[in-house]
Amino acid sequence: MSTTAETNISVINPRIRGFICTTAHPTGCAKHVQEQIDYVKKQGPIENAPKNVLIIGASTGYGLASRIVAGFGGGAKTLGVFFEKTPEGGKTGTAGFYNTLAYEKAAQAAGLYAKSINGDAFSDEIKAQTIEAIKKDIGKVDLVVYSLASPKRVHPSSKTVYSSVLKPIGSTFSAKSLDTDKEVVKDVTIEPANDREISDTIVVMGGEDWQMWMDALKDADCLTEGATTVAYSYIGPEVTWPIYRDGAIGKAKADLEKAAAAITNSLKNKNVKAFVSINKAVVTQASAAIPVVPLYVSLLFKVMKEHNVHEGCIEQIYRLFAQQLYNGNVPALDEAGRIRIDDLEMDPRIQEAVRKLWGEVSTENLKEISDFNGYRKEFLQLFGFGLEGVNYEAPVDTTKV
Ligand code: NAD
Repeated sequence: MSTTAETNISVINPRIRGFICTTAHPTGCAKHVQEQIDYVKKQGPIENAPKNVLIIGASTGYGLASRIVAGFGGGAKTLGVFFEKTPEGGKTGTAGFYNTLAYEKAAQAAGLYAKSINGDAFSDEIKAQTIEAIKKDIGKVDLVVYSLASPKRVHPSSKTVYSSVLKPIGSTFSAKSLDTDKEVVKDVTIEPANDREISDTIVVMGGEDWQMWMDALKDADCLTEGATTVAYSYIGPEVTWPIYRDGAIGKAKADLEKAAAAITNSLKNKNVKAFVSINKAVVTQASAAIPVVPLYVSLLFKVMKEHNVHEGCIEQIYRLFAQQLYNGNVPALDEAGRIRIDDLEMDPRIQEAVRKLWGEVSTENLKEISDFNGYRKEFLQLFGFGLEGVNYEAPVDTTKV
């Protein structure tokens, strides 16, 4: 990227470092958001939708999709909390920064209230700021979406910094994985997490902070009678279990799932219901960082596209709102009390086909038997690159969309 000192105008190219892209394209991010808005509008309005929605983790991935479905599918006022970098010193902002500007612009044009708070959602300060905004602007919220994915958490009481790990538990794990940069399929070996790493991962990605948010909202009288809250989790197929479901992150997710029951119980006087929705594997900044997952997702995309059941964040969340939470529906829960919108991913026909390909996939046949190209395209789109109709040769202002 070349930016002149006086202006923020420059041509922006993707700069990929491993599983992250360190640049983001404002116009491309805006196009990506608009495509999701258009998808929701095409599906039609959602009946009995929530009116005032707080989304924690609202700037990218599943949280952004939740904001778009609430706003453009249900006409909700949305308050989004997230942690994103603003453009500075010739560097672009992060994708979530531009996504949010684009959401706010589109919401304003549609006459929808949208306010955003950029800061650490784990902190007492951001919780207080959010509550102040709710009280001032919208009174109470009737839906709280908890969609944080973070590698670390500064605990608000002790100020201790906890880090999460993506490691197995008990024994070393070896499996095929994909180096998405070099486009090479190779074996990875990951040593197990120790007890400290497991408990720290639970502190970061478990249910404590969700519960703290709900307690703070209750104490400030910011929840409507009968409000709903939903947090997102993942189960996935056996090939990913050692690193995901049975790994340190899986322990944190189990803790998050336990928190749903605790929240429902602690807010029963207000008739608040807390749900965990098990979502499908999609390409997001968070999932790109998990070993094994990009290869699994590339194979999954191939099979789901062949069966005409491919979904990204926006399709998933529209379905969650329209078929489970609202439109006169009562959520259909599994034996553990969770909403399952990973049903199409976990369909035995899909999983059997993926399992077969998993056994065969190698560097040589990667592009033929998997949808690595589709994975790559969606990865770049997360940062606003590769969207149709965007002129990537034109200089753009990095401070706005
Ligand atoms: P993502 O990386 O796209 O989004 C994470 C969001 O959290 C962003 O808005 C980011 O700004 C925000 N965030 C991170 N740290 C923060 C902090 N300290 N304070 C405020 N905001 C912060 O991730 P995602 O994949 O959409 O994940 C969201 C949830 O969905 C997670 O719970 C994840 O486990 C779950 N999930 C993801 C997948 C998948 O395949 N990606 C599948 C099932 C469930």
